Amino acid sequence: MEDFIKFLQDNKIPYKENESLKNYCTYKIGGIARVVVEPRDVKSLVKLIDYIKSNELKYFLIGYGSNLIFPDNNYDGIIVRLVNLSEIEYLNDNLIKAGSGISLQKLAMTLSSKGYTGIEFATAIPGTLGGAVYMNAGAYKSDMGYIVSHVEVLTPDLKIITLANKELDFHYRTSYFQHHEGYIILSATISLKKGNVNEIMDLIKDRSLRRKASQPIEYPSAGSVFRNPEDIPAGMLIEELGLKSKIIGGAQISEKHGNFIINIKDAKSSDILELIDLVKTEAKNKRNINLKEEQKIIKWD
Ligand SMILES: Cc1cc2nc3c(=O)[nH]c(=O)nc-3n(C[C@H](O)[C@H](O)[C@H](O)COP(=O)(O)OP(=O)(O)OC[C@H]3O[C@@H](n4cnc5c(N)ncnc54)[C@H](O)[C@@H]3O)c2cc1C
Repeated sequence: MEDFIKFLQDNKIPYKENESLKNYCTYKIGGIARVVVEPRDVKSLVKLIDYIKSNELKYFLIGYGSNLIFPDNNYDGIIVRLVNLSEIEYLNDNLIKAGSGISLQKLAMTLSSKGYTGIEFATAIPGTLGGAVYMNAGAYKSDMGYIVSHVEVLTPDLKIITLANKELDFHYRTSYFQHHEGYIILSATISLKKGNVNEIMDLIKDRSLRRKASQPIEYPSAGSVFRNPEDIPAGMLIEELGLKSKIIGGAQISEKHGNFIINIKDAKSSDILELIDLVKTEAKNKRNINLKEEQKIIKWD
């Protein structure tokens, strides 16, 4: 790892050593990561990944960590945090290209307030643009699949290529990237229409108020824990199972929304995972429903 630190210093790539992962995920959980690296641009990212691969080092890519359940044990590898590729380029009246590290909320708010319509749903979703494409993040019957025209990616063999929407296999909370590990999203080009700014901003305000009333956003969480099964929203199912407010350690199934687990007091990753197991077991035993996590459970080798 000493050689790697020297490589980062020589190439002026920002990094921190022995960082608590609590600071890099919205659940505020996790052990210590040996190194967290935040490349400033595509050139240094490619150099970094080339070095990591040539030297067979371990790495894991994150955005804002708003969909991740880090484990409690320490990670002796490299966290590559993509939050600096954040420029916005207006290609024409409808197409906007943005770096994958930009905050999705910031991008959505910037474009909505300029009168672009179609991205209103994203103003409430934390995370980066890259994380949102990977997850096919969505809300209010829309998702990234509706608005992404194409993406630029770094392939596992370090080529930069462009993939069009139809190649990205967008479905409910999933995309091409969840079945093809090792691809890094560098930018996404979004296709939007022009609308009435006042109507757009009123809609965003209204939804934001409804979210605040129905979701426990005042606590650390990673949004919805489970994908909605076919016949019933996961939150309603969990409420019907009588599991709302259930506490294990420092984690709780939210009283406000059954599909949120919140960190109420120094929760461990294991507290959250125990609650997830409990919900899955009850859903299977009492309703014969196989719940599937939307959040990504991370395990270090
Ligand atoms: C309060 C709250 C509310 C939420 N509401 C919603 C909602 O309404 N709808 C919804 O869909 N989600 C919601 N989420 C979940 C979360 O915000 C989204 O899944 C988000 O898109 C994750 O982005 P991220 O940058 O944080 O990704 P991370 O959590 O950091 O990473 C998620 C995955 O994406 C991969 N990844 C990240 N960046 C890249 C990249 N550039 N290239 C390749 N892979 C990458 C990571 O390796 C990881 O596998 C919510 C979360 C919270 C905390």
